[in-house]
Amino acid sequence: MATIFSRIAMGEIPCYKVAENDEFFAFLDINPIQKGHTLVIPKEEVDYLFDIDDEKLGRMMVFAKQVAAQIKSKMGCRRVAVVVLGLEVPHAHIHLIPINEEKDVDFKVKQQLSEDEFKLIAEQIKL
Ligand code: AMP
Repeated sequence: MATIFSRIAMGEIPCYKVAENDEFFAFLDINPIQKGHTLVIPKEEVDYLFDIDDEKLGRMMVFAKQVAAQIKSKMGCRRVAVVVLGLEVPHAHIHLIPINEEKDVDFKVKQQLSEDEFKLIAEQIKL
């Protein structure tokens, strides 16, 4: 059975899309810890990030770098944190989180955003 993230990348489940190419897809995290919190996934299903082959992992990082540059410029943050957890969804993903200080990376604190806010943020950082 396809993972929820595969179904998002295939357009079967709605998301706030940020960027896409042949291999990778980026969309807003539905329970963001900061405004602009984005997930980058490979379209091909693999559970653990470090099971991705070296060349593809490199390309995924370059894709994430492009998305992060866009987040940094549009969200006006000091840095874009790069976090990999993978404990909840068994489809490899990189969290990109706009931050100004260390305490901004706290997965216990979620932002409550309206649908309009999600749409606006996705539109702002869209590649
Ligand atoms: P983890 O696997 O621990 O890295 O966490 C999975 C992340 O995916 C969490 O931050 C969730 O909020 C996020 N997430 C789960 N389902 C969706 C969805 N349908 N759309 C966007 N983000 C999601």
